[in-house]
Amino acid sequence: MTASYQVRGPVAVITLNNPPVNGMGFATRKAIASAIEQAESDAAVQAIVITGAGAAFSGGADIKEFGSPKALAEPNLLSLVLLVEACAKPVVAAIHSVCMGGGLELALACHYRIAAVGTKVALPEVKLGLLPGAGGTQRLPRALGVEPALNMIVSGEPVLSELLAQVPGQQLFHRMAQGDLLEEALAFAAEVAPQRPLPRVRDLKARLTDAKVDPQAYFQFARNMVGAQSRNFPAPLRCLEAVAAAVTMKFDDGIRAEREGFAALMMTPESKALRHAFFAERATSKIADVPSDTPLRKIERVAVIGAGTMGGGISMNFLNAGIPVIILETKQEALDRGLATIRKNYEAQVKKGKLKEDKFQQRMGLLSSTLNYADIAQADLVIEAVFEEMSVKEAVFKQLDAVMKPGAILASNTSTLDINTIAQFTQRPQDVVGLHFFSPAHVMKLLEVVRGAATGKDVLATVMAMAKKIRKTAVVSGVCDGFIGNRMIEQYFRQAGFLLDEGCSPEQVDRAAEKFGFAMGPFRMGDLAGNDIGWSIRKRRYVEKPELRYSASADCLCELGRYGQKTQAGWYDYQTGQRDAMPSPVVAEMLLKHRASLGQDVTVAPRQIRDEEIVQRLVYALVNEAAHLLEEGIAQRASDVDMVYLTGYGFPLWRGGPMCYADTMGLFNVVQAMKRFAKNPMDDAKFWEPAPLLARLVAEGGTFTA
Ligand code: NAD
Repeated sequence: MTASYQVRGPVAVITLNNPPVNGMGFATRKAIASAIEQAESDAAVQAIVITGAGAAFSGGADIKEFGSPKALAEPNLLSLVLLVEACAKPVVAAIHSVCMGGGLELALACHYRIAAVGTKVALPEVKLGLLPGAGGTQRLPRALGVEPALNMIVSGEPVLSELLAQVPGQQLFHRMAQGDLLEEALAFAAEVAPQRPLPRVRDLKARLTDAKVDPQAYFQFARNMVGAQSRNFPAPLRCLEAVAAAVTMKFDDGIRAEREGFAALMMTPESKALRHAFFAERATSKIADVPSDTPLRKIERVAVIGAGTMGGGISMNFLNAGIPVIILETKQEALDRGLATIRKNYEAQVKKGKLKEDKFQQRMGLLSSTLNYADIAQADLVIEAVFEEMSVKEAVFKQLDAVMKPGAILASNTSTLDINTIAQFTQRPQDVVGLHFFSPAHVMKLLEVVRGAATGKDVLATVMAMAKKIRKTAVVSGVCDGFIGNRMIEQYFRQAGFLLDEGCSPEQVDRAAEKFGFAMGPFRMGDLAGNDIGWSIRKRRYVEKPELRYSASADCLCELGRYGQKTQAGWYDYQTGQRDAMPSPVVAEMLLKHRASLGQDVTVAPRQIRDEEIVQRLVYALVNEAAHLLEEGIAQRASDVDMVYLTGYGFPLWRGGPMCYADTMGLFNVVQAMKRFAKNPMDDAKFWEPAPLLARLVAEGGTFTA
């Protein structure tokens, strides 16, 4: 039963019971509705308490029902809310732990509310590109006041019940429980049982704190603020308009306006993208052949090999999660440098007020270091982050195999080397896994978990669970050159190179990519990461695979010593210590020479390439490679690819990732565009051959992400 019914003296208690967070799915809604009817028809019952079992009052709509007909099946949330509000006997919501979305809307329809301290209260629908659709935008401003309600609805952020209870004039909580919530709710219900008429939030007036402020002027000001802060997302402004309706319209008209806003938002690509990302994030942790009840190894102590750029950042993740870390290096100076960088990073956070001094001390207290392998032998997980050379990795993994306790997980942070080869350096390949963190490792959300041929299922399950603890989005990748993210980005960079060959400037390409929403265009990204990294990879790759065409412009750039920000010169010029990218006359000259070397008449203006074409060529290059990755089983599912790009490569969230975007554009149209690009003699026809999976989906009328 998803909601239980019990009579305690004169009070009926309805307890939501749909773990984990009492989601208001169809079965729960039906159970609540029938319990209300039962209480109404029971003459012995004088009042009703609604509460939640376990760890929540209610977390809101049941996400499993999202997008299915069940979400709308009667009683839908709006109908249930009306039923509760219309109940002839007083209904008291006894709120604790989590009261969000539909859960808060249900509570707002009750006649009274009593809350436990520490309850997280929110209307988070905006985070899915929606607005609260069961009266939340109309009732919260009436119960709490317009400004705080607007803030909550537009941000979606939770606020603690005790803070809300302090809002002057609020009628959200009639009482704060001092002790046992249910006992106090029962007493409160008995106390208010005889009172009539029953108070309803709909009868209150939605007021601004200062009655002298003109609501029109207030909302115009808010509109400007919200509009500026949410440029690519339509939901926040729609939320605002719904709250404005609570002030300017009669209640039922406001509800109608809310419904219209909800329905309109539901259809927007932005909301679809946000909902896709929400489910994609949850799907990443599921591995087809690794059951969810796979026993986990414990990870209480971590060792990191190498205190360089990555080793330091990786260590911070574990320190932040309260897990002790020991770092091993070959030389004391390298160790000192690495530890000093960690300290400096934390100090910067303290300075900015992002980290409290005692937390900083606590974290540094969990950190130790050594030059000696014997000192790390008892770690449960060791992550290697030494130089990217197979011989160095070999030496390290042989050492680890010799000293680490049985059952320790041996991970490598390699970006390009074969995990299976690395595993073979040990007698325990089942314990070896790739953990590909992204730089800066203490900031970037993405973690690619590279599954070797022999990697144990329990090892995989353990590192996926560990990733959650250190707040990473972990995506499983099979073994291949570049794994998911970098293998795709290489095709994107190849296309960016072809665009230069055709006469685009780096600024033009970056501007188009950034207008599309990428955090950074390909050339600014190259300058940040260091163009020399790609150079050394290309030297290897294109010698091995001479049939792969690429633009040599990036090699010409590196031959000039223009490695990027670190040399103050890359695709752009940089002033010492500055990150502002300025167009470079040297690069323009270099590109002209390069095009002449390709046999082009550079006295004639090149073809003008539209932003739309630039973006399609960059993004569809990603999509086609991802289709290969899916076919090869390197990526488990298209939504995993999207999570890699959303969390690791600055792909715009409101577009949902490259695969979701391709679906939105229509795969037929994607392939048509690819065919057009293939005909361009300056491009590479082979590059644009649709991957078999993509071709199949078009033929079947399928999508990547449905
Ligand atoms: P780095 O040069 O900054 O650091 C490497 C550190 O390893 C140095 O401090 C060095 O002294 C130490 N080291 C070398 N040999 C060692 C050994 N035998 N035992 C112990 N310590 C040793 O390099 P990095 O950028 O931190 O990269 C480390 C690894 O992470 C590489 O495999 C790299 O491919 C991978 N990676 C790097 C990035 C990045 O953006 N920098 C991103 C993802 C993965």
